[in-house]
Amino acid sequence: MRGGFGRRITSGGEEEFSLKRLDKHLFKFLFSYLKKYYKKIVLAVLAMLMVSAASLAGPYLAKVAVDNYIAQGDLQGLNIIFILLVLSYGVYWFFSYHQTYLANYIGQQIVGEIREDLYKHLQGLSLRFYSKENTGDIMSAVTHDVNALSDLLSTGFIHLLNDFFTVTGIVVIMLMLDMKLALAAFIVIPFTFLSVKFLGKRMRNAYRDVRERLADLNADVEENLSGIRLIQALNREAQNSGEFKKLSWKNLKANLAAASYFALLFPLMELSKVLGEAVVLAYGGYLVITGAVSIGIIIAFMGYVRRFFAPLADLSQVYNTYQSAGAALDRIHHFMSIEKTLQESKQKIELASNFKAEIDFKKVSFAYDKEKVIDDLNLKIDAGEVFALVGPTGAGKSTAAKLMSRLYDADEGEILLSGINIKDIAFNSLRQNISVVPQDVFLFDSTVLENIRYPNPELSEADVIEICRKINAHQFIKNMPKGYHTKVGEGGVKLSGGQKQLLSFARALINDPNILILDEATSSVDAYTENMIQDAMEELLAGRTVLMIAHRFATLKKAARIGVMEAGRLAAVGTHQELMKENQLYRELVEKQLLKDGEIYG
Ligand code: ADP
Repeated sequence: MRGGFGRRITSGGEEEFSLKRLDKHLFKFLFSYLKKYYKKIVLAVLAMLMVSAASLAGPYLAKVAVDNYIAQGDLQGLNIIFILLVLSYGVYWFFSYHQTYLANYIGQQIVGEIREDLYKHLQGLSLRFYSKENTGDIMSAVTHDVNALSDLLSTGFIHLLNDFFTVTGIVVIMLMLDMKLALAAFIVIPFTFLSVKFLGKRMRNAYRDVRERLADLNADVEENLSGIRLIQALNREAQNSGEFKKLSWKNLKANLAAASYFALLFPLMELSKVLGEAVVLAYGGYLVITGAVSIGIIIAFMGYVRRFFAPLADLSQVYNTYQSAGAALDRIHHFMSIEKTLQESKQKIELASNFKAEIDFKKVSFAYDKEKVIDDLNLKIDAGEVFALVGPTGAGKSTAAKLMSRLYDADEGEILLSGINIKDIAFNSLRQNISVVPQDVFLFDSTVLENIRYPNPELSEADVIEICRKINAHQFIKNMPKGYHTKVGEGGVKLSGGQKQLLSFARALINDPNILILDEATSSVDAYTENMIQDAMEELLAGRTVLMIAHRFATLKKAARIGVMEAGRLAAVGTHQELMKENQLYRELVEKQLLKDGEIYG
């Protein structure tokens, strides 16, 4: 669990991310989203150009005012400059609003689309993917990574382009106004550049450190909150608080280190600015005295030099945003490029309403990784038959059930349903006709009603009640504080094990399936609940083809035939009596495990 959310942030390789690694696949990926908005992008860039132009007009207008009008005593001309100055600020505000809104609009739209696509894609990925990937990592891609991208698309690009336009504009204007003075003023640039580079590198490292410490903190909180029962039971609170305090302290130190660099950045920029101004004043003053330039030029230069350095400081910030966004994009693209291993076949056969629910495993083999978990399995279950699988833990019983419901696809051989390869049956049709009752019931923190009708939320409450009556669940649900509208708590914490099983039965009956796969819960319940469950099971199994993994003797009694599984194969098939006589493994199983119910097989 450790490092779910957190580890993703630290292990994503942000430090190594560079423009070079933003390869053409990533560009193509991002471009496929951007191209839809090209008109708005053009408008946004135009707005940015206007903003830069308007912000650069001020010093130039000041120069014209001084040289052409104030020096000549031309009040009318001065008024015109005044109006132009006001106008330029009007233009600045107008386009500044539009550039920010447009960039955010485009950024948020694209990020929304990417998030939806990513989520949709993730939902379609096979369980093989989910058993390999860490849930925290996947969550982090949908939330943290998508947000990092959003920062870049909605604000990072504006700053980058604005700064670029502004700096270029200033350089061009200064060179045009007076080449010599401009070159003299630029002497400060290498100094600024080096200091930004020096600080930028340290700031990036410091911010990365901050993110890593935050990730450790998150991971610790995540782990400790989910394990809180164990922590309290083992009386580990004090020790864990101590560990948390250490992590919290490291986080604080990392933040302070980052703050110390950040605090240096602006004074350094100020220094560059002052140096620039001093050069302009001294050398420009000299040029004025020798009659080479006008006073207006010095005033304009002062204005431009002042504006020149802020964008440079900005750039080191944008670089941070760019860095995290690039790494985030890399990870999002990684998930998006994982192909769905479970493909829906082109044929998409729909099962007829009265299809013959007969199951046939033909030479089926399957491995999660390298080792075969199902090895050349042959098994035929007739329509309407209740077939039980027993076998030692790890024999592959649950895996066989998962292959049947196509949570995984067999590597070799085929599974036929009604004579049709299940790969050719449309997913919808297959899932509607096969219900699975898993060993561990998963309940959402929602109402009893919503949990039961999860496979078909359209089903009416009355229908749900009818199903619950049949399996003896109605009484206890009715007695809950809000009946069917009682919330069950996260993972169903407010329910007993037996109650959860009954809800799971009800859920399995929602689609009135022809085929049922039952992985019986191993948790023991009291005798009264056990009876209730066994009664409910009668209803559950009636009239369906059933593949069940039985752990209780009472359940086993309901099966017509029993298959003994060993190391991914069927070792023997028969009735209880036959197997007791002929199969050593079965006898052992019955003696060791199944007889613990204390029942005698009838
Ligand atoms: P059974 O239900 O008979 O106890 P399973 O079908 O659950 O057996 O497991 C068979 C084997 O497959 C076991 O060795 C188990 O460790 C392995 N296994 C089960 N699920 C996975 C998985 N998601 N990834 C990798 N191996 C798995």
